[in-house]
Amino acid sequence: MRSLNLLYLTLALMLPQLSHAALAMKEIAPGIFVHQGAHEDLSEGYHGDICNIGFVVGSAGVAVIDSGGSHKVGTQLLEAIRKVTSLPVLYVINTHVHPDHIFGNTAFLAENPAYIGHAKLADAMERRRESYMRSNANWMGAEFDGSAMVKPTMTVDDKMEIDLGGRTLHIVAYPVAHTNTDITVMDLASATVWTGDLLFVDRTPSVDGDIKGWISVIDQLKGLPAQRMIPGHGNVPTDWKAALDKEQRYLSLLLADIRTSIKNGVVMEKTMDTAASTEKDRWLLFDIVNRRNVNMLYPALEWE
Ligand SMILES: [Zn+2]
Repeated sequence: MRSLNLLYLTLALMLPQLSHAALAMKEIAPGIFVHQGAHEDLSEGYHGDICNIGFVVGSAGVAVIDSGGSHKVGTQLLEAIRKVTSLPVLYVINTHVHPDHIFGNTAFLAENPAYIGHAKLADAMERRRESYMRSNANWMGAEFDGSAMVKPTMTVDDKMEIDLGGRTLHIVAYPVAHTNTDITVMDLASATVWTGDLLFVDRTPSVDGDIKGWISVIDQLKGLPAQRMIPGHGNVPTDWKAALDKEQRYLSLLLADIRTSIKNGVVMEKTMDTAASTEKDRWLLFDIVNRRNVNMLYPALEWE
């Protein structure tokens, strides 16, 4: 009992400090820093820190790639940057509209960076603003305080290059895939690609755009001259082509199974239990996310 009390006391003393501490980062290639979020669902008990966020350091300044799910997480990311460099944050890049990737944007306003996103990002943010603000405030309570949507000030409708000082980032915008706002960021110096949620590792891929578009974008990603890929969620894979293959296999199976159900008159509720079920043990959060995917895709595919 005594040791348990001591443990609680220690935790209570640590927590207030931890909540303001810099995020833990890993330098996976020279000047490329990644923080890996926890594998939690976006729902009650979520803390705004579930995806991979990070930054790239050049000789003139820093680019942030995804800012986390709250002002607080963004602040912790900025603190992590300040442990590495005092150079200015020149760019904050959002790989897509999802709340776990964008709500830390406010933490960088004082740095006066350019905010970069897909040409459709500002519109997507506006459409989702009310519901995202409400649901994220419900899930996080006071931990969401200070969070707001900060829209892009520079947009990408095809390709764009930015310079961090002796270091070029090549940004590419995609047609509708994971969402309608997906971009990738490639650091040419290290041949590292930040995929956003176009690549999920470990965690079940969630579809919020066009599954057929996504499957074909994966083919495009396979052709990139990359050394490594940083997924939107999960570990940086040792074999990124195998990770893309695995994701594509799941999405293709999900699409095929839903189409078969529709053809055979199997209702959606039943399809939620059966579609892509052979993939169940290969992914985290499978039951929650796979059902949600069927719920989203089935009605749309009925009209094919
Ligand atoms: Zn996402």
